[in-house]
Amino acid sequence: MGEGMPADTELRALAATIQSCTDCQLHQARKLAVPGEGPADSAVMFIGEGPGFHENEQGRPFVGAAGRFLEELLASVGLTRQQVFICNVVKCRPPGNRDPLPEETDACAKYLEAQIRIIHPRIIVTLGRFSMARFFPGARISAIHGKARQIGGRTVVAMYHPAAALHQPSLRTTVEADFAVLGPLLQAAAAPPAEPDPAADAKQLSLF
Ligand code: SF4
Repeated sequence: MGEGMPADTELRALAATIQSCTDCQLHQARKLAVPGEGPADSAVMFIGEGPGFHENEQGRPFVGAAGRFLEELLASVGLTRQQVFICNVVKCRPPGNRDPLPEETDACAKYLEAQIRIIHPRIIVTLGRFSMARFFPGARISAIHGKARQIGGRTVVAMYHPAAALHQPSLRTTVEADFAVLGPLLQAAAAPPAEPDPAADAKQLSLF
């Protein structure tokens, strides 16, 4: 993947590689691989576990009920899914929505690592245990959910997976509360850089 290539070109090339990948057994039963989607300069990246039924059919992440809940959560802090990058730890659907195996997450890790390198998000939100484990090995999600940590120069926050919250109503309130706490952080990171302010620049210069 090319040094000096524009980020969106590099991301599209990576997606094409993922779509034809056969590096683990998950390629055997997939219909479509799900590389992830969002702007190449996204300041915020959401990482789920793996594609489910609808994602496997459409080749897009978070398009089922969990995706609708994620969109509601984003809207609750003034964001749309078009403003953030959304992907998964494994890019192909584990049969029957079983948990991905360690050898599958290991085989697929290179793609997630490349996406993080290319996009360089300021904030990463992990959704569920498997994406959390890549950043917080050995942690319990019940202990760390909703708490922002600095890892490798960026903010990483672990959250429950929206699908888990749909199955357990008590978790829904927790996820909504975690998003509310994250809201200002997410909004600030997703906002475009401020336009240069000539008046402020002049004021700054006058201080010297
Ligand atoms: Fe390749 Fe990842 Fe799909 Fe396995 S899950 S076949 S490593 S893209």
